[in-house]
Amino acid sequence: MTTQISSTPANHSPIRLIIHGGAGAIKRNRLTAEREQAYRQVLAESLTAGHAVLKEGGSSIDAVIAAIVVMEDSPLFNAGKGAVFSHEGRNELDASIMDGATRMAGAIAGVTTIRNPIRAAHAVMTQSKHVMLIGQGAETFAAGHGTEIVDSSYFYTQHRWDQLQKAIAKEQVVRDHDMDSGTPSPDGDEKHGTVGAVALDRCGNLAAGTSTGGLTNKRYGRVGDSPIIGAGTYADNRSVAVSATGSGEMFIQTAAAFNTAAQVRLQQVPLAEAADRTLAEVAALGGDGGLIVLDAQGRFAMRFNTSGMFRGSIGDDGIARTGIFPDDVDY
Ligand code: ASP
Repeated sequence: MTTQISSTPANHSPIRLIIHGGAGAIKRNRLTAEREQAYRQVLAESLTAGHAVLKEGGSSIDAVIAAIVVMEDSPLFNAGKGAVFSHEGRNELDASIMDGATRMAGAIAGVTTIRNPIRAAHAVMTQSKHVMLIGQGAETFAAGHGTEIVDSSYFYTQHRWDQLQKAIAKEQVVRDHDMDSGTPSPDGDEKHGTVGAVALDRCGNLAAGTSTGGLTNKRYGRVGDSPIIGAGTYADNRSVAVSATGSGEMFIQTAAAFNTAAQVRLQQVPLAEAADRTLAEVAALGGDGGLIVLDAQGRFAMRFNTSGMFRGSIGDDGIARTGIFPDDVDY
């Protein structure tokens, strides 16, 4: 019997990292050149951080964490520092991560003191028998497993607080990107959001992760799609890695991330088409948003049915490419 040699030997797969920083009503005329530059700068830093891991032969999981931590630490995005406020004036954070080689996954929801929720999701994946932990229990677990805990005031930003007051006044629960759409904001910077990453490492393994503060003015412990495996995040080496952003309820109802992966695996639907079909299902239920999708050959798609999505890609050449608007070229 002969042994089949893979055409992509271990450690020789192309490397690739795709990220998003949220999709929504992002309009060119409402984003100043300075703010656009600031977003592109953080997106590029995130890509570079993840690429550094992949280039050295690190795992796709570690690349996803490295990329997401940069965006969680930036006040520009609705994740970690800079997350939106709930109705009660808290920053309630959700995150998830999944390993495409093993389909191991970890998630946390409704946490208020974990500096980098994606790290806590990873700790759940690697150091517990569970997939999802919430609230106080998740915080106790994370603290006991080396995850950095901060005072909840760390997450406060004036700008998010002001957004909450506006949302309360209008009695609205608002997706970050859609905050104030149509009315000029003082600094044009109200369109940013949930963050996510999908990566392919040299061993040909896929991973995906997503992190968010959810919706401004959310209450009753509302949790969206971001920490739900199969809705906001999914990874399977047999198909694709996916991270979503958008109207969380409809992404849950359409099992958006798994839905996209299943189309690729079971029906051989091309990545962009699979993402578009999923987004059409989301739209049929009254939602919108975006998906980033990456397969084990390094093919990828960044699709959205909103006016913009913060996004970026980097591969073997190490060049960080960022995009926001539909006409930005996706390499
Ligand atoms: N999907 C997130 C949620 O519903 C929000 C977003 O992507 O902006 O919590």
